[in-house]
Amino acid sequence: MARYTGPDCRLCRRAGVKLFLKGEKCFGPRCAVERRHSPPGQIAQRRRRVSDRGLQLREKQKAKAAYGVLERQFRGYFDRARKNPLATGQVLVQLLERRLDNVVFRLDFAESRDQARQLVRHGHVTVGGKKVDIPSYMVKPGDAIGWKPSSQDKEFCKALAAGIPRKAVPGWLSLEASTLTGRVVDLPKVEAVEGLVEPRMIIEFYSK
Ligand code: SF4
Repeated sequence: MARYTGPDCRLCRRAGVKLFLKGEKCFGPRCAVERRHSPPGQIAQRRRRVSDRGLQLREKQKAKAAYGVLERQFRGYFDRARKNPLATGQVLVQLLERRLDNVVFRLDFAESRDQARQLVRHGHVTVGGKKVDIPSYMVKPGDAIGWKPSSQDKEFCKALAAGIPRKAVPGWLSLEASTLTGRVVDLPKVEAVEGLVEPRMIIEFYSK
């Protein structure tokens, strides 16, 4: 399946929530969700009833867009979650949230998940002191996430560090801003993604 190449803000307007896909713009008054509260498209301006199936599909698409994951990989996460003896929704949230690119974004090392993915791919991020350049790498409790020492001297890294804090770090992570080191202190809970992912609807979508 091809990667979505259209405007990022359109995905947020479609989802009806801020997915924080554009970095700095997302935190200011230029955010499209702040300026226009209707979904994109002229037809969408008219009132129309969306079926339950449509709402479930929308929820799944929203989660994919937020985490920048394609259908095959997303489906793979769902299948792994379903096979797990723990609650499917809880495990699905953990699989999405524990991705290294998401953790880099959550720790405020990047302005968006896209930027976080690029930082990881380019080898600027370490886990337990070792370079990891796989955005889908799964972190676990106890892992320390930081910057490669040589990257810390680079201008873009200094600029990103200067912007901290842009947003609150979730409770399952901790951040030591002075050393630019993050730590996974717990596994993420469903409540941590409230408003971003509604696991129940995604489970219902794939169960039909
Ligand atoms: Fe655009 Fe960011 Fe606002 Fe989404 S949150 S609409 S990507 S500016």
